[in-house]
Amino acid sequence: MAIFDKFKALSATRQQLDALGINPFGVQIERIITPTEGIIDGRPTILAGTNNYLGLTLDPECIAAARTALEFEGTGTTGSRMANGSYSGHRKLEQELAAFYGKRDTIIFSTGYQANLGMLAALAGPDDVVLLDADCHASIYDGCRLGGAEIIRFRHNNPEDLAKRLRRLGRRAADALILVEGIYSMLGDRAPLKEIVDVKREFGGYLMVDEAHSLGVLGEKGGGLVEELGLLADADFIVGTFSKSLGGAGGFCVSDHVELDLIRYSSRPYIFTASPSPATIASTRCALRKLEAGTHLRQRLHENAERLHTGLTKLGYKLGAPASPVIAVVVEGTLEALQFWKQLLHRGVYVNLMLPPATPDGVSLIRCSVSAAHTTEQIDAVCAVFAELRSSL
Ligand code: PMP
Repeated sequence: MAIFDKFKALSATRQQLDALGINPFGVQIERIITPTEGIIDGRPTILAGTNNYLGLTLDPECIAAARTALEFEGTGTTGSRMANGSYSGHRKLEQELAAFYGKRDTIIFSTGYQANLGMLAALAGPDDVVLLDADCHASIYDGCRLGGAEIIRFRHNNPEDLAKRLRRLGRRAADALILVEGIYSMLGDRAPLKEIVDVKREFGGYLMVDEAHSLGVLGEKGGGLVEELGLLADADFIVGTFSKSLGGAGGFCVSDHVELDLIRYSSRPYIFTASPSPATIASTRCALRKLEAGTHLRQRLHENAERLHTGLTKLGYKLGAPASPVIAVVVEGTLEALQFWKQLLHRGVYVNLMLPPATPDGVSLIRCSVSAAHTTEQIDAVCAVFAELRSSL
């Protein structure tokens, strides 16, 4: 039984939560009505925790593209691209993503998680050193561990701390890999990318930016923080996911480095897993075109984010960052956060509950993610529920 001993603490916590009637990690959306409304526990519920930033999950053209692929290419690829070959859509999507960023080439992966895992496992080996922002996503940490590189964390959004650590590396700094995100997934704050690029220019090294939450959200064409700040040429690798603004599942890395193609031959998370299904590729290709042309969607998204952020600020909630599509309410105490989350759901508002150790600085977060598809009425309804619950925090 010893193998299961490690789950004892978890099991006790789950029992406690069950007794309180709370299961934040087992929510079932029984029916999807629109990209921002579903039925949960039999109740119409506003979905404000889905990362569906542009609201494209039910876009008729994306669905039609997926349906055609499903009909003519089947439900799955049944194997990895290395062993079983690529479908034409895989390569086309790679070329379209490269063109979208104006970069040389792209590798796509079966999930966004695997994009980080696959890139870092192959790129950052035991003789290499990576410097990662302390708030980086789990997939970045896991990729570094899989590759076996020396991991140095620098203080979140702190270019001076990065510079200090690079300085200590001496000559090794020139080959170090710096890892940051465009918009951070937990608090919704942005990387100080200009300053980080300045540090990279001073010390050398390579820069990888994970734009999972900023693709489709920032930049005129939706290319993320690198595009918005005009720093595309400074990002050696841009990683992203199909699962948020693009409304699908999968991930990618674009780069100008010719060696990118060699990652395919050395990345276990690329080689030893089935490639994305034809329907996923088809809907993602369609969504990418819409994302690029979607200035109106981005405008709507930012209006909604601003409205929710202003509403919650006026109510006196402590928020994790200035307005962005990720709006995190900081709550003192895990139990308080759990109860608050439950009350929101009972009143028809679904958001994410984020608890330590997944959160920065051990705080508990009620994390809202805003969509271009939210109506003004839905944003106001979410604010009204937060107003009703204000006294409980
Ligand atoms: N990177 C970041 C910064 C993320 O927030 C996430 C998902 N939350 C991922 C990568 C993984 O993406 P996916 O869920 O598409 O696998």
